[in-house]
Amino acid sequence: MPTSYDREREVALQAVRKAATLCQAVQSEIDPAIIEKDDRTPVTVADFGSQALICNALREAFPEDPIIAEEDSSDLRSNQGVLLQVTQQIQQIRSGVTPNTVCAWIDEGNAGSYSDRFWTLDPIDGTKGFVRGDQYAIALALIVDGTPRVAALACPNLPADLDADDGSTGQVFIAVRGDGAYQVSLNGDDDEGTAIQTSDAETPANGRFTDSFVSAHSSHDTAKETGHRLGIEAEPIRMDSQAKYAIVARGDAEIYFRLPRPGSDYTEKIWDHAAGMLVVETAGGTVTDVNGNALDFTHAPLLSENTGIVATNGRFHDDVLQALVEK
Ligand code: AMP
Ligand code: MG
Repeated sequence: MPTSYDREREVALQAVRKAATLCQAVQSEIDPAIIEKDDRTPVTVADFGSQALICNALREAFPEDPIIAEEDSSDLRSNQGVLLQVTQQIQQIRSGVTPNTVCAWIDEGNAGSYSDRFWTLDPIDGTKGFVRGDQYAIALALIVDGTPRVAALACPNLPADLDADDGSTGQVFIAVRGDGAYQVSLNGDDDEGTAIQTSDAETPANGRFTDSFVSAHSSHDTAKETGHRLGIEAEPIRMDSQAKYAIVARGDAEIYFRLPRPGSDYTEKIWDHAAGMLVVETAGGTVTDVNGNALDFTHAPLLSENTGIVATNGRFHDDVLQALVEK
């Protein structure tokens, strides 16, 4: 009998919604005119607050499940001022918590290495976008036997439709392997949402691709050259965070490129890809590394067997990989 992940889906959805409430409260308090260029305090507060809330929700619902999350509390414990701010933000959502409880919740996310069933969390993916007031994501996935099975990807600043800027921002992308991908309103009370599908374009020509806003994270040059070889004329959609996976999953773009810069030996982290990858795959797309290899989550927390990422709508993935190696 196939396993049902109904409860995991529900817990993950409500957990990322709660974390997004905290992140939005912190982001709304950032005054770009006042914030010093190097002041990372808001993103630090939101990062730790988001991780604390989600780890606590998972721990209450699934006491046995390990969690591999991006942060740990050691830096926070040595910065009482920031710890107090994190605690105050969480108290808006869960009254009565203490700084010690907050640190303990954060450290529920320190499982460290691979196991047969675990959650992985990026409490704020795209921190540079968060500080700029642009895109960021809260990315949570359950990995069973090395495969992402459930994903909840909250994108608090993403409109329901990229072309219709109607002010309706805030989406959660929910995916369960075998059950498709859904876009759910971040703040609504509809938990079902609308089924999403990748673009039905049969060729990449005249399509669109998305890549990182931050050029240090992915080679803009290689993406543009490859795009040209594929006949893509549109400007790239540059965006922070796993929102890039979301826009491929719902057909706003055909391709997501994450291409190592020449000379870079960066190793991708599982929490930057597990949720986004599952959303794209369950919406009909394909995700591999730049060499066409499947993402290997068994070396968690690193994707040490992979190099870069290519996600497509699933209709011409091999052509895109081929264009990457042509010069
Ligand atoms: P993005 O918003 O898609 O540009 O990616 C944000 C993520 O990039 C962060 O969560 C980091 O984990 C990751 N990152 C940091 N440095 C690098 C790098 N040199 N190459 C690729 N990804 C990186
Ligand atoms: Mg990240």
